[in-house]
Amino acid sequence: MTMIEDQIDSVRQRIQSTCKACGRPADAVTLLAVSKTFGPEAVQAAHRAGQSAFGENYIQEAVEKITTLRHLPLQWHCIGPIQSNKTRLVAEHFDWVHTIDRLKIAQRLSEQRPPELPPLQVCIQVNVDGGATKSGIAPADVPGLAREVANLPRLRLRGLMCIPEPAPDFEAACAVFTRARGLFDTLNAEGMALDTLSMGMSADLEAAIASGSTMVRVGSAIFGGRHYPTAV
Ligand SMILES: *Cc1c(COP(=O)(O)O)cnc(C)c1O
Repeated sequence: MTMIEDQIDSVRQRIQSTCKACGRPADAVTLLAVSKTFGPEAVQAAHRAGQSAFGENYIQEAVEKITTLRHLPLQWHCIGPIQSNKTRLVAEHFDWVHTIDRLKIAQRLSEQRPPELPPLQVCIQVNVDGGATKSGIAPADVPGLAREVANLPRLRLRGLMCIPEPAPDFEAACAVFTRARGLFDTLNAEGMALDTLSMGMSADLEAAIASGSTMVRVGSAIFGGRHYPTAV
């Protein structure tokens, strides 16, 4: 077993024991392996451990990896900010986008999604803790954007995503994640049929799962520490 395969196993165990502890089914939470800054060999090692969904932040780096690994049945999620001049690359290469926070970007992705590909699966990024430096839209603006995104022909709105600041303890982390969960439940009560709540990373996946996360995005607990920017 390589280190990566080992780490994948222990992250899966963390997910399973947390699901069990909070009375959720073991398959309620999907693991997204965040491979940013790591090369194709790291992704292949994770794939050997049965991992098929990968998250990437930097579009150019991701497109190279996606192209190199085209022969493998992998699913690619864009979890980084997207500028207008990168929407075409994203629409052509990714399966999912978690970081929709402007209608303009969503419209471009829909227009540029190649017709031979299935709709792009998307989440709206919500700034749940009001972090000033962060992307994501204010909770109050989510319902309006969700309705518009749901009407775009080549996108399929799956849910919400958030990246809160690290919290001082488990309860504080849960309090923030629970706000995203509340918004998710409200949209569903209004008939949106969302199934994805993308929240939780290496350090806080237990709190996220306890608060209703359906997809955790885990990088360093699988691949180790990241080195910017030369390790790309
Ligand atoms: C890098 C990143 C992650 C993974 O973070 P780790 O702490 O390494 O697990 C998850 N989500 C987003 C949006 C990221 O940018």
